[in-house]
Amino acid sequence: MTQYVIPALEQVSVPVVGTTARFPVQRIYCVGRNYVDHAQEMGFTGREPPFFFIKPANTVVVANAGETATVPYPTLTKDFQHEIELVACIGTGGKNIKAADAKKHIYGYAVGLDMTRRDLQGEQKKLGRPWCIGKSFDYASPIGPITPADQAGDIENAELFIQVDGKDRQRSTVTKLIWNIGEIIEHISVAWELQPGDLIYTGTPAGVAAVSVGDTMHGHVDGLTDIHVKVV
Ligand code: MN
Repeated sequence: MTQYVIPALEQVSVPVVGTTARFPVQRIYCVGRNYVDHAQEMGFTGREPPFFFIKPANTVVVANAGETATVPYPTLTKDFQHEIELVACIGTGGKNIKAADAKKHIYGYAVGLDMTRRDLQGEQKKLGRPWCIGKSFDYASPIGPITPADQAGDIENAELFIQVDGKDRQRSTVTKLIWNIGEIIEHISVAWELQPGDLIYTGTPAGVAAVSVGDTMHGHVDGLTDIHVKVV
């Protein structure tokens, strides 16, 4: 066994539907502005090429089936926002993957939230600085159990939504992705060699909005396990 000079953190992992074995998380890739209506609400046309940012694996918050996970309201922000997203979970790595072959690399799918300190992200954008402080903070990546791809149904046509305390905030369908899952994997795998355990948060539709302490978010994608996450 390898000896470490400081404590080595435990492998971050996510439960998988139908088995006690877990999915080990490596990198978290997020796609920016991948629904036209959300790109427009952010002040863009929706025709830009895809772009990506990365969150560390230890920003994951597991939202178990039938439970309400908690996320602490983060520091420094007054505009803590939800982004409901379909997450594609990479089972087989690779580089220069063609969109047509991308499905073979996907282990399964999950419901995710790309939580955002929107005011800090906006300040960094204005200054031409990296988004890290707006996107890659602790507890920023809630995710539900992973459903293996062959059990996830027709994910390309799935509806997704988020409700906060029972009220609709975002609602759309995966068909409205500007860059579909295969195209996203093609683009990412040119820039990085994808690894087993990588998660891809595929982007969010319009309706991103703030949550406050005490709010409970309910995220849904057809065919997957719903998530419930309370801000504390
Ligand atoms: Mn996002």
